[in-house]
Amino acid sequence: MEAPVYLDHHATTPCDRRVVEAMLPYFSGDFGNPASTHYYGRRASNAIEDARVTIARFLGIQPAEIVFTAGATEANNTALCSIKPGQHAITSEIEHMSVLGPLERTRDAGAELTILTPDREGHITVDDVQAAIRPNTRLVSIEAANGEIGILHPIGAIGAFCRERGILFHSDVTQAAGKVPLDLSNVDLASWSAHKLYGPKGIGGLFIRRGAVVPPLLLGGGQEAGRRSGTINVPAVVGMGAAFRLRSEEMAEEGVRLAALRDGLRERALAEIAGTSVNGPRGLRLPGNLNLSFDRVEADSLIVALRRFAVSAGSACSSRERGPSRILNAIGAHHAELGAIRIGLGTSNTADHVNMLVDDLKHAVGRLREITAA
Ligand code: PMP
Repeated sequence: MEAPVYLDHHATTPCDRRVVEAMLPYFSGDFGNPASTHYYGRRASNAIEDARVTIARFLGIQPAEIVFTAGATEANNTALCSIKPGQHAITSEIEHMSVLGPLERTRDAGAELTILTPDREGHITVDDVQAAIRPNTRLVSIEAANGEIGILHPIGAIGAFCRERGILFHSDVTQAAGKVPLDLSNVDLASWSAHKLYGPKGIGGLFIRRGAVVPPLLLGGGQEAGRRSGTINVPAVVGMGAAFRLRSEEMAEEGVRLAALRDGLRERALAEIAGTSVNGPRGLRLPGNLNLSFDRVEADSLIVALRRFAVSAGSACSSRERGPSRILNAIGAHHAELGAIRIGLGTSNTADHVNMLVDDLKHAVGRLREITAA
């Protein structure tokens, strides 16, 4: 059987060939430990510092404000575990579990937590944050974009509001970085992961604005200026730098191309398949993102029927959880119990893929409705 067409670029992306090429010398030739002061160590640390500069430039921050981590999960945990008993944090129901998990743990240890409910399209507004503020609010964490319904949150405005009140603002930018322009000027802490932008897995970073105090999660050799101990994964950091460099060159054009493919897919699905609903915002969303549900059709059955495609019902990290998506529930989606299919278009996808998908969807939705009616 031919491999299915990959339409799940929110779960992960393939590592770009050019990224792999950039990484290769750092596995065996330039294998030094970046903390070593000799020739080999300097070769490795120079490569890491080059990557740090590239990434900082992309994000509009200072190189010294970047701490390399083993991905966004570690970055989110580092940023959020610093909430102390008696302090209050605000987040939203549609955050990734690596944001909600640490905040819930701090609540269990005596901190306070407000979890905001988004509106039916997934919006979280400055007003929502303002209404939740308490005298002891220490931190607000709102993602830049949601990987299931594609909504983009107003992190500039929420960050400005927090800054005026001396509240730290953290944003998980994992789904947005490399997909849409990001303005971190009002953000104090931001987390990302390279594998969502055509880089390698198991590497990411945390932006800690100069002056913000975030105790390290990992103690040991004192790497990353004491902010994250552990020998840095040099090839992965080099790969992440290359991935950011490629995104800075190609993101704008690619975003326009993917949004056009996505809009074509949405229009055809709505016109040609009765009982189709689009979940998430009607306005701006991540360029490659679409989330669809179909009356009387269970998403899980539809995904199995769509043999020529790899699509998912929700986020890959929670796709082993049973029951409807917590994101669809949080926005009160129509027929949330039936689930939805999340389509994530990326660089390898073409108009042919979109046309094939609509044809297969039409067929599969029709068949599944016949079976349930019988
Ligand atoms: N945050 C968001 C929004 C994500 O989509 C993901 C990955 N699904 C993560 C955090 C965690 O990233 P990683 O698994 O690379 O640590």
